[in-house]
Amino acid sequence: MAQSALSAEHMHDEAAALAFIEARLWPNGPICPHCGETIRVGRINAKGFKIGMCKCYACRKKFSVTNKTVMESSHIPLHVWLQGMHLMCSSKKGFSANQFHRVLGITLKSAWFLGHRLREAMRSLNVEPMGGGGLTVEADETFIGGKAENRAFGPIPPKVAVMSLVERNGRVRSFSVPNVTAQNLRPIIGRHVHRDSRFMTDESGIYTDIGWNFADHQTVNHSAKEYVRDTAYTNTVEGYFSILKRGVYGIYQHVSEAHLPRYLSEFDFRYSYRVARGYSDSARADVAIRGMAGKRLTYQGTRRQRTEEVPF
Ligand SMILES: [Zn+2]
Repeated sequence: MAQSALSAEHMHDEAAALAFIEARLWPNGPICPHCGETIRVGRINAKGFKIGMCKCYACRKKFSVTNKTVMESSHIPLHVWLQGMHLMCSSKKGFSANQFHRVLGITLKSAWFLGHRLREAMRSLNVEPMGGGGLTVEADETFIGGKAENRAFGPIPPKVAVMSLVERNGRVRSFSVPNVTAQNLRPIIGRHVHRDSRFMTDESGIYTDIGWNFADHQTVNHSAKEYVRDTAYTNTVEGYFSILKRGVYGIYQHVSEAHLPRYLSEFDFRYSYRVARGYSDSARADVAIRGMAGKRLTYQGTRRQRTEEVPF
């Protein structure tokens, strides 16, 4: 009988979960997060200390693998973090706070905060331009929200504009922008798309003025039902938008403008590490676990609006 992915030992046993996370964040052994020491570091096995505590003999401070990660100060056991990460990484449309609350047996507030910290771990820090010689990047924009049917009660949230850049057979990066204007989109395109790429867009004037910067720029006329002309199409990015919208409307019902960038990180991440690119559910979760390092997200921090358009 096939083994359930959630029956693995590290999904149930706290010591196994710790070893699993350490193997990914500390492949060469403990690193002091305070001073970077890797040699003069010892394990604390004394009673009364949480498992996984280490002591640095260079700076005299204590630490564990969760220090300076999205897991820092969390009361959720590590094996539950790993269950949550697996569920988030293997569910194509996402996993809501309500689902985490019911499946993991944690409070709704903890579930909501867990979800946002998992998304933070999935946020790409990659600033290398996409595409390059012989590669094709598609760009398009869409609007999320603003539909009455997505709302059980309360006012209809305003539509939020999203632009996505998809490298064909590669990764996606999405950006929430205040308005779809050349002024907002051009700097993002200029920074994130390699000049040697072939660039595919619709006929919007936003793209015509920046298109000449690339090795080739082809446009598709949507209104004329001219969707595919040899390699000139934007179906890849449009396909990505349909996954994003099914997830946001189906699982999350409504997403506020303040939180949208984190949902974009989540959907971008799953798409970028999709099965077609050779990533299994567990390989994808491994990438996300490594992404937990060096990031913090406080509960207060989740409530602050993010306006920058760095790659999420
Ligand atoms: Zn130290």
